[in-house]
Amino acid sequence: MDSKKNVMVFIEARNSKVAEVSLELVSAADRLAQELGGCVEAVALGHNLDKELKALGHYGCRWVYYTDDERLTHFTSVPYAKTVVQIIKKYKPGIVLFGATTMGRDVAPRVASALKCGLTADCTDLQIGEHKIQDTIYENTLMQIRPAFGGNIIATIVSPESVPSMATVREGVMKMNSADTSKTVEIIKEPCIIDDNDFLTEVLEVILEEKQVNLKAAQIIVSAGMGASDPESITLAKELAKVLGGELGCSRPVVDSGILDKDHQVGQTGITVRPNLYIACGISGQIQHRAGMSEAKRIIAINKDPQAPIFALAHYAIVGEVKDVLGKMLKAYKTKL
Ligand SMILES: Cc1cc2nc3c(=O)[nH]c(=O)nc-3n(C[C@H](O)[C@H](O)[C@H](O)COP(=O)(O)OP(=O)(O)OC[C@H]3O[C@@H](n4cnc5c(N)ncnc54)[C@H](O)[C@@H]3O)c2cc1C
Repeated sequence: MDSKKNVMVFIEARNSKVAEVSLELVSAADRLAQELGGCVEAVALGHNLDKELKALGHYGCRWVYYTDDERLTHFTSVPYAKTVVQIIKKYKPGIVLFGATTMGRDVAPRVASALKCGLTADCTDLQIGEHKIQDTIYENTLMQIRPAFGGNIIATIVSPESVPSMATVREGVMKMNSADTSKTVEIIKEPCIIDDNDFLTEVLEVILEEKQVNLKAAQIIVSAGMGASDPESITLAKELAKVLGGELGCSRPVVDSGILDKDHQVGQTGITVRPNLYIACGISGQIQHRAGMSEAKRIIAINKDPQAPIFALAHYAIVGEVKDVLGKMLKAYKTKL
């Protein structure tokens, strides 16, 4: 089989668990590999991850090249990058995907630089297409799609002359396949090529801070924009989220103004969410906000401006004062739920 048709995913293990973003990327890689007529492979590093890695098969991964070494338990830049480079050189995939996470953003540029190939950061979509430069046609090229110039344009970036094409993809952007437990992955153990001199830093202790808000997992999000940023509206939005069993989200200026933490921010530079219900309160609906919530199954927008752009996206539009509407919704849900 032509290895260039294969799509490789860098697997992140956090606290000895495969990160959700890695499963999202395996799912995206599955779709791309099917178009290319290839397979999904993965590169994983860590210690005692065999059991965890089995789940990759359920999402479409065929082979995982796994380097197991106690020194790789915690992420460190140089050993990780060096190992990934080695695996890519050995298996020669056509495409390599990383999460646009702290770890992915550290490893991917080091790997791209070592392999002298292109890297597109923070992609929001990936497609396979054809690219023409003068008389040369590059078929089966990875179209790396991402917002550019402050989100005012959507750029498609290609790097057809260097192999592999590499991209980092934001968490939550790619839809995860439903797990098919009949599908299995072959775990191929790779020798550890790092030596102690590669460890420029030593991780002495890892302290994990529990997230206060889990927007990604929330099925209902009540989100406050600048039109609902006064203390009374924030309290109402928070209370509605609680009554509905959801979470409180917000737009970026609400975070920039210090009203809510960054963990609440939805959008291009915040979190990408796909809840069953998104209630946008006093949010204008600029493209950077929409980038994070347009995949919600149902959107209710409350805004006093009938021309607000959010209404073009909303399934239900409520024109009115946010406090009045939230107060009425709360009263109704409190008596009916
Ligand atoms: C590079 C870049 C990245 C960005 N990333 C993000 C991001 O991740 N997330 C994000 O959200 N933004 C992001 N932004 C900012 C984005 O462009 C918008 O400025 C922002 O989304 C606007 O927030 P807003 O709708 O809450 O505020 P505004 O644009 O001020 O809109 C407030 C809305 O509330 C309505 N309103 C006011 N008072 C009331 C009331 N009493 N009752 C009812 N309605 C009322 C108004 O009619 C208006 O529509 C980014 C911008 C850039 C340049």
